[in-house]
Amino acid sequence: MHKELQRVQENAMSLCAPVFHEMENISLYNMEKVLTAFRKAHLSAYHFAPTNGYGYGDPGREKLEEIWCHIFHTEAALVRPQFVSGTHALATVLLGLLKPGDTMLSAVGAPYDTMQSVIGLTGNAPGNLKERGIHYKEVPLREGTYDLKAIADAVDEHTTLVEIQRSCGYMLRHSLYPEDIQKIIQVVKEKNPKTICFVDNCYGEFTCKEEPTDVGADIIAGSLIKNAGGGLAPTGAYICGKADLVELCAHVLTAPGLGNEMGSYAGGYQSFFQGLFLAPHITRQAMMSAEFCAAVFKELGFTVTPEPGHLRTDLITAVTLKTENNMCHFAKAIQNWSPVDSDVTPLPDAMPGYVDKIIMAAGTFVQGSTIEMSADGPVRDPYVMYFQGGLVFEHAQLAIMGAAEKILEEMKK
Ligand SMILES: *Cc1c(COP(=O)(O)O)cnc(C)c1O
Repeated sequence: MHKELQRVQENAMSLCAPVFHEMENISLYNMEKVLTAFRKAHLSAYHFAPTNGYGYGDPGREKLEEIWCHIFHTEAALVRPQFVSGTHALATVLLGLLKPGDTMLSAVGAPYDTMQSVIGLTGNAPGNLKERGIHYKEVPLREGTYDLKAIADAVDEHTTLVEIQRSCGYMLRHSLYPEDIQKIIQVVKEKNPKTICFVDNCYGEFTCKEEPTDVGADIIAGSLIKNAGGGLAPTGAYICGKADLVELCAHVLTAPGLGNEMGSYAGGYQSFFQGLFLAPHITRQAMMSAEFCAAVFKELGFTVTPEPGHLRTDLITAVTLKTENNMCHFAKAIQNWSPVDSDVTPLPDAMPGYVDKIIMAAGTFVQGSTIEMSADGPVRDPYVMYFQGGLVFEHAQLAIMGAAEKILEEMKK
């Protein structure tokens, strides 16, 4: 590594040091929370066993959901490999809790891209909320963040459910800390105590000491190929919260009348338990990677969101790279420093559901897993690359320095 690059790396590491220390404290706190749940639930090796058929009384499934309730302090949970993705779990909540004539309110601007199809804001997917006669309202962001007064004004006696998305997703806004979520929920419940507060917790699990269910959320959902699966869960997602609400979701996940008492998994449950056990530590690795990425690219003179030096509430760093060429070099370096498909060169291409071309770098063991290191972004002005994940901080360090080296070379041309 040449001198300039070495200086960038050293400066970045010293910039990160105080935050890394705080992340260690959070990880220790969450490790204790997870371990206490495992001990309280008396997890044993027989809970790992594969099951088949209907899965009545499946010991692994039931134990996993019991442990989930201890960790998130909820009455009920659905933690299932049958959820094909985070979107599937989030949609199950909306389809389970909203009836024709009900109103859903998105509290923090437009929701995540895939949720827009579920609602019917984009595309024309059969069975979307709009088609089912469910009304949708949205509170716009103010100065890049949530607007408490506007949220209070938007909630009335007709507001059935408020969706609060914790992570920024692919928007340049601030992600929400548990304190922010708490404030929003307070404002909503003051206007209408019956309104269900639902949090999209994707990317948020174990980044802070508290979860949305600790600050008043009625129900939350997230993906198992992000934080909570610890990099080992091969697929799946979760919903947890108040028992009556989770029950309604279960009848949508399976079938009306079947509810939560069925579901087997021939692959066995060990990776879900072990992944959950690792999740606080792995989430810290990914948070450190995001922080280091922000520090390095700030050193190189690029705008990064969030700025390094603060505790995070999700795993994403947005780097504004200013040119398509820089995006391609960044993606190529991340891909080439991946353990899988390292010889692939990512190219910008059209993707269903997106207007602009997208470039993606991901050499992951689990397809589409974003707790593993990956980077992607729409190729349009101002050319923002979203970096997330990293199971091992050392790996992310190598890849990020690889990207920095390429971009430094480009800047010199
Ligand atoms: C990842 C994510 C989702 C769900 O995405 P899937 O790819 O379906 O798992 C939803 N909301 C946010 C904010 C996300 O980050």
